[in-house]
Amino acid sequence: MGEVRVRFAPSPTGYLHIGGLRTALYNYLFSKQNNGKFILRIEDTDRTRLVDDAIENLIKSLEWAGITYDEGVFIEDGKIIQKGEYGPYIQSERLDIYQKYVKELIEKDKAYYCFCDHERLENLREKQKMEGKVPKYDGLCRGISKEEAEERIANGEEYVVRLKMPSNVDIEFDDLIRGHITINSDDVDDQVLLKSDGFPTYHMAVVVDDHLMGITHVVRGEEWISSTPKHVYLYDAFGWEKPQYCHLPTVLNENRKKLSKREGDVSVEDFKASGYLPEGLVNYLALVGWSPDSNEEIMSLDHMVELFTFDRVASAGGIFDRKKLDWVNSHYMKELEKDELFNLAKPFIIDSGLADEKFLDDHKDWAEVLLLTIKDSVDNLKQIPDAIRFAFEDMPEVSHDELEILKGETVPQLLEALEEKISGMDSITFDNAQTIMKEIQKETGIKGKNLYMPTRVAITGVEHGPELSNIIYILGKDKVLERINKSKELI
Ligand code: GLU
Repeated sequence: MGEVRVRFAPSPTGYLHIGGLRTALYNYLFSKQNNGKFILRIEDTDRTRLVDDAIENLIKSLEWAGITYDEGVFIEDGKIIQKGEYGPYIQSERLDIYQKYVKELIEKDKAYYCFCDHERLENLREKQKMEGKVPKYDGLCRGISKEEAEERIANGEEYVVRLKMPSNVDIEFDDLIRGHITINSDDVDDQVLLKSDGFPTYHMAVVVDDHLMGITHVVRGEEWISSTPKHVYLYDAFGWEKPQYCHLPTVLNENRKKLSKREGDVSVEDFKASGYLPEGLVNYLALVGWSPDSNEEIMSLDHMVELFTFDRVASAGGIFDRKKLDWVNSHYMKELEKDELFNLAKPFIIDSGLADEKFLDDHKDWAEVLLLTIKDSVDNLKQIPDAIRFAFEDMPEVSHDELEILKGETVPQLLEALEEKISGMDSITFDNAQTIMKEIQKETGIKGKNLYMPTRVAITGVEHGPELSNIIYILGKDKVLERINKSKELI
């Protein structure tokens, strides 16, 4: 096999769907594994769907996810630039190229001019539907001679160019995931290749570009599989070598429907805003529809490069399981260093209103301990504000069961000792907080459950929670004393 060249070819619709991110990821893994090249091409020939800043958003999402590529469209110094020998990589900048190849098809009698207007096509479609047929162009303009067509065009008539599908021939191709596929040309429409606005359709542009850009493997979502016979036919019409096809199963929700924006998070940006780490999202996404031979589930990008194979990509749709995403993500949360955790958590804390940027920066060491103390209990960054709320707010109301704990026999003695010890300290530092409980145990002889449980309830109001000595440090001298007094009053 020569050099592997793959591409991710999104249409700039405004955001990157996580299904798209997974397509990009599999392309990335495959190209890296084969020391190949990965190209980002922008397919913006549908002028009705253009959205401002869509290319920037796409590229930023890929960048955030850590999916890098070798050629194509990049952002540098805030500007869209293109790199590589096969450019331009933005389809709207390649119109003359498509027009040249459309002409070639017409010369070869593999395509024809069509002058049918919108109204005729609509009526035709309605009629076919009523007859229970799959709507398809009826070939009315096939019979128009090239000379007549050129004359009509010269007279200013609007036209499109259509693919001239032959009748009743089998079109065949192999798919790395779905195997051998055969479709009869009678089931394939005379696809429009060039629209009346001079832009190519996706089908024309994708074939021309994949060929000219030397793409060896077309790895894309399975929603394109029904279009592939048109593409295969185009390659044959041009006499070009076909790429290897590889159609990936759709990312589905728990009801086995395509993940849609109406139901919540679907774009990479949504998941970022929901507090997922790029490592967690990408690792989890890889598992939606694929698993390595070893059945490992936690894998870095580099390790996935080693393990990835198309023959372990499922052909059935992959279910996106939010709980599993949380589980995978929590693994990467645990790995965060305190500085990273602080920086990543900051916007979520500020957003929650618990603290502002200045407070967090002024109390960085304290905030880092706070975050390290709770990080094993959260699955994602968005859960952090709730987990750290105790450090900012008053002690919650002590519930009936917890009050029972405070009514234990040795609790008054314990609280006295705690109060005395803490009052005698200048301040509670992280280090001296670590020894307080041990000293109290020594001094009072109270230990184990009788020591830790009531102390925790007395200063946090609840029975369970993170490391007690950290909590004592986080709350600080004044708050701890105030709470001990409150608890004393309760009993
Ligand atoms: N532009 C298509 C999309 O938005 C790409 C399909 C393909 O990869 O061929 O999904």
